[in-house]
Amino acid sequence: MSLSGAVVRRKKVSPLDRDATGRPALLLAWYDRHRRRLPWRPLAGERADPYRVWLSEIMLQQTGVKTVGPYFEKFLARWPDVEALGRASLDDVLRMWAGLGYYSRARNLHACAVAVRRDHGGAFPDTEEGLRLLPGIGPYTAAAIAAIAFGHRTMPVDGNIERVVSRLFAVEEPLPQAKPVIQELATTLLGESRAGDANSRAADAKSRAGDSAQALMDLGSSICTPKKPACALCPLNGDCVSRARGDPESFPRKAPKKTGALRRGAAFVVTRGDQLLVRARPEKGLLGGMTEVPTSHWLAAQDDKAALTQAPALKSIARWHRKAGVVTHIFTHFPLELVVYTANVPARARAPEGMRWVPISTLRDEALPNVMRKVIAHGLNM
Ligand code: SF4
Repeated sequence: MSLSGAVVRRKKVSPLDRDATGRPALLLAWYDRHRRRLPWRPLAGERADPYRVWLSEIMLQQTGVKTVGPYFEKFLARWPDVEALGRASLDDVLRMWAGLGYYSRARNLHACAVAVRRDHGGAFPDTEEGLRLLPGIGPYTAAAIAAIAFGHRTMPVDGNIERVVSRLFAVEEPLPQAKPVIQELATTLLGESRAGDANSRAADAKSRAGDSAQALMDLGSSICTPKKPACALCPLNGDCVSRARGDPESFPRKAPKKTGALRRGAAFVVTRGDQLLVRARPEKGLLGGMTEVPTSHWLAAQDDKAALTQAPALKSIARWHRKAGVVTHIFTHFPLELVVYTANVPARARAPEGMRWVPISTLRDEALPNVMRKVIAHGLNM
């Protein structure tokens, strides 16, 4: 790679080529001094536990380290290994997951633990191919577990690594098309890769591939940040093309984003004394199986009148009270606005079919997604 600011488009890179600039060694030396202490990481020099790596990687998808930390500790205290998690009920896992969002991850987490327990004797497969056959484990997570827990010389490329690599090599192609070339370039940053023994177990035992990956993750999160990267502190700053050009923040290049249209609906907060009316969402789809208060459909073209006709059928409600304001929530593919209606019903009122009453004091034990927490807080003035 030229230091003169040459731009990489489709440079042919062999995964077994060691980076001639010495970047892998610089990266590992930096990691040895500055590695973050994270609950799922073992002490320096120790091999990571596949269960911890897997659990943390699933939780970290779309979620920051700070938020994940307490959830990881809670899960580990309750289910110390994959065998224990595989014996848990899905409801318990969803309840423990509540608040982390993207609930299909929790369902896959449970399905994966069940599969590891049932089909693999409670031990994760130690190859990327084997890992990828498990529920919820895609190419990135399989590579992360293979590198970090088993020492395979493979580079998992997450958003942080994408940013560092695209800047380091000034990759002009926008994401997501640039993913294959970024993957190839990232692989050249693996430490201690030795052609000829790429698949040997002895080499894996000595490999620091997991440290190389975690070094890039840490670099991306603490130094090569999306805004104002601290290039002066970066171990790779002597050989970074975008830094030499003076425009690191403009990488990675991105194709213009398409955001979904705003959807609207109504949510119905019905109380019976100190109890709240709830139901479970359908198993499949958005927030599958989670708990919610009854709502209308969430549609782009929906007015309040149409939404109100979808209120739960409770004879004792003569009139709904509309709360001022709306609850807004941003899902990955669309923003949502919910109008909140409230009503109180007498103690004898029965829950409509498919719904149930829960004490408000035990709501924290329900698998409530964040959007519902907001709705309930708004409806109950909490
Ligand atoms: S020198 Fe700056 S832009 Fe380049 S990798 Fe380091 S922090 Fe990122």
